[in-house]
Amino acid sequence: MANTVQIPVPALNKEISVSTGLFINNEFVPSVDSSEVIQCFNPATEEIIASVVAGSSKDIDVAVAAARKAFKTSWGKNVTGWERSRLINKLADLIERDAQELAELETLNNGKPVAIARDFDIGDSIQCLRYYAGWADKITGQTIEVDNKSKMAFTRHEPIGVCGQIIPWNYPINMWAWKVAPALAVGCTIVMKPSELTPLTALKLSELVVEAGFPPGVINTVPSLGSIGGAALSAHPDVDKIAFTGSTLTGRKIMEAAAKSNLKKVSLELGGKSPQLIFESADLQQAAAWSALGICYNTGQDCTAGSRIYVQDTVYDKFIDVLVSTVKETVIGNGFDQKTGGGPLVSKAQFDRVWGYIDAGKAEGAKVVLGGERRNTKGFFVDPTIFTDVSSDMKIVKEEIFGPVLSIGRFKTEEEAVALANNTTYGLGAGLHSTDASQCMRVSGLLEAGTVWVNSYNLLSNNVPFGGKKQSGIGRELGSYALEEYTSVKAVHWNIGEKLQWPL
Ligand code: NAD
Repeated sequence: MANTVQIPVPALNKEISVSTGLFINNEFVPSVDSSEVIQCFNPATEEIIASVVAGSSKDIDVAVAAARKAFKTSWGKNVTGWERSRLINKLADLIERDAQELAELETLNNGKPVAIARDFDIGDSIQCLRYYAGWADKITGQTIEVDNKSKMAFTRHEPIGVCGQIIPWNYPINMWAWKVAPALAVGCTIVMKPSELTPLTALKLSELVVEAGFPPGVINTVPSLGSIGGAALSAHPDVDKIAFTGSTLTGRKIMEAAAKSNLKKVSLELGGKSPQLIFESADLQQAAAWSALGICYNTGQDCTAGSRIYVQDTVYDKFIDVLVSTVKETVIGNGFDQKTGGGPLVSKAQFDRVWGYIDAGKAEGAKVVLGGERRNTKGFFVDPTIFTDVSSDMKIVKEEIFGPVLSIGRFKTEEEAVALANNTTYGLGAGLHSTDASQCMRVSGLLEAGTVWVNSYNLLSNNVPFGGKKQSGIGRELGSYALEEYTSVKAVHWNIGEKLQWPL
């Protein structure tokens, strides 16, 4: 099967066409040895909307070979930074041209509201591609003085080679852009494995890769189950690097596979259980607004979801009142409805998982102050749920939920607040709200997280690095830091005139 499907969009009375094959060497092709398919669902209706080819481990071999060939011939060190920049910019332009339709497809398969997909996920992806297009002709090494007479050394920042990129379902287009853009900028080639839950927009973007004029094999896309295609990529002896976003459990497996195969470089952006601290001097309305964004954005399916909040006891009751009334305004619904602020959860598995946590929170004695009620409708909808009276040993406080479920605790002193915030195996994001500048500086230094937001939350920028500490990951995406993940530094020692006397 290597076809095109027309996916109906009933809300808009139209159809969107998507190629359903594996994208290798700029062509959509069938699997070499498998007739398996991945069924794609609309999480708002629970209906199947398309079936795409499920790549096998042999298909991964074919895609890696294509990427290797392109790396050695038409890409890698064989193309100038200017040309890479031109092509990445062209791709950004095409995504901008098709932003509305890409957003609609994202909504069909992931559930998120169309306007959010278009203006935030896709808007940011376009910016990300343009940001790295700007870097493509500025990848330089250093000249290093070795002695004053006859020797010099310099470094070359070379593309690391063939990159396997394994992305999740919560930001399918955005994670595609974050991974693809820096890799292309430095001259790497790519085998992309989108999540089996949301492969459609990666396939649609592959059509734009051809239109932009990238040489065959530079970007290949293999939809596949994680345990098959993802595992095969991670263990592949001819893949030089894996970039992964997803769960900590899978991140561990990828690192193991990389270690056992060829010690390929690995960068991991994993889970989190990110805290926010609300100090008594904070602007409580603003702190509540950022906290609502932190737990409701993307219906909580966010690696940096601010899922634990600790409030200073002097303002605790007041903050809870403001927060509950702020979060109540969140409209969870069908992403094609313009009033919707957050869509359904992505799948039945995620829906059951999140309800498992809500049930556990109730059973363990936490108090529900908002939500916690099931809807009696089709679709994987979960309304924002806030628990208070939580303790550190509860599952809802310790584990990543990946849904709109918030736990709130209280503290007396700054020291206690920092200890509560850091009491986790994760270290992705953290927020603090205070109008005391010294406190902001002090506490942001003490929080164990890759990103700390002060009087804001969850806003990222393409030129600022992002990544985790502790079990939230290894390496950094975005900014100039991401370029290091895709380059290999070669030192060249150059003897210009020294004669060696041997033996020494
Ligand atoms: P996952 O980690 O299993 O999936 C993410 C990606 O990894 C997908 O493309 C998947 O196909 C791939 N994958 C799965 N098994 C693999 C393997 N053995 N080798 C290589 N790749 C593999 O996540 P999930 O099962 O979809 O979601 C489970 C939980 O993970 C969520 O509830 C959430 O807590 C977390 N998660 C985190 C993020 C994030 O942004 N950090 C994203 C998605 C999910």
